[in-house]
Amino acid sequence: MQRLHLQGGFGEKGRTSVLIDDGESRVMLDAGIKVGAPPEDYHPLLAHPASEIDALFITHAHEDHIGALCWLIGQGFAGPVFMTPTTQSEMSATLDQYAHVFDLATYPVSKAAIEVFEPGDEISFASQRIMTGHTGHVAGGVWFAVQSGGKRTLYCGDVVPESAVFPMTPMPEGDMMLLDCSYGDDRTPASVRAERIVAWVAERPKGSVLPTPLSGRSLELLAILSGPLAIADLMYEPLREQISVPKLLKPGVAERLAERLETTHRWKPGDPLPNCPLLVHDGMGSAGPAALALEMAEQSGHPVLLSGHLPEGSPGHRMRELGNADWFRLPTHPTLPQNRVLWENAGRPRLMGHSCEAKALEEIQHALPAMVTIAATGDSTEI
Ligand SMILES: [Zn+2]
Repeated sequence: MQRLHLQGGFGEKGRTSVLIDDGESRVMLDAGIKVGAPPEDYHPLLAHPASEIDALFITHAHEDHIGALCWLIGQGFAGPVFMTPTTQSEMSATLDQYAHVFDLATYPVSKAAIEVFEPGDEISFASQRIMTGHTGHVAGGVWFAVQSGGKRTLYCGDVVPESAVFPMTPMPEGDMMLLDCSYGDDRTPASVRAERIVAWVAERPKGSVLPTPLSGRSLELLAILSGPLAIADLMYEPLREQISVPKLLKPGVAERLAERLETTHRWKPGDPLPNCPLLVHDGMGSAGPAALALEMAEQSGHPVLLSGHLPEGSPGHRMRELGNADWFRLPTHPTLPQNRVLWENAGRPRLMGHSCEAKALEEIQHALPAMVTIAATGDSTEI
């Protein structure tokens, strides 16, 4: 038997977190924050005191999966933190931007607490066995399949089954699947969306600003945009790091992107906006050089294309509402048909969807009849 506690990201987008308790040990998967949320909803809702959680496993370094790490330590968590080397190398940049200043200064993540593993490794921890695999979402991002108490829970984290850049390892069968439902009933293939973005950029030859998270979508954009391209100076090293391990990318992609990266112009805050497309992080204008670049673009009427999730209250959300920015999705999560395939391949287990509102789950239940649409943060269930 496993007891699952939904600690964040269910019936909402952000602060993604799940706790799996098999009666002998408690393993927590992800510790995200929710950008734009009031303080009481910013961090995961812990089902047990943090000091009674035995280990934490992190899927990837996006803020909605790792941003609450310092906070969790501050709450009393003292166990090991399992992550891949890529996630470890990106962790500081995310925590610097999204952890509360007090938590970051008072409860830093000690190097000794971090246990590094490679995507594809199988980890035995206490009474639980955790399988891992590539997600297709970011370099070094993983899914988890947690086996304990005679059951297996599949936790997708964020996945992209058909990325042009990153591979995704097939998941095993399971008794319960926690599916990445960020895109609800979106059925538009990634290739169609990529063409739209390429056309939008081509129609603005005097330049444009494209906010994007430091990892994942940035490489996807680098792969689809040809012609002159600028990136925020601060992106260069992290992007080079992400393509430095070719096995984390699809065959041939690392070499192609490395070449492309070297041809980019580097934009520094304080420089005028370049007369070519500019990639700048983060993806919503909440942190990083994107905050300044969006301000400059808005003042001068420079074109802006947003392409990801925009939390309410973020600068990107506000600009889109005001009509000061365009928005086309560049997929970094599964479409509904892709989620259907993931579920079929997992042996049609019971399903709960994370990273979307309850209404979106109702809209996709016709294609995923095993979906528990009412599952929400704070709920617990037994399998
Ligand atoms: Zn992510």
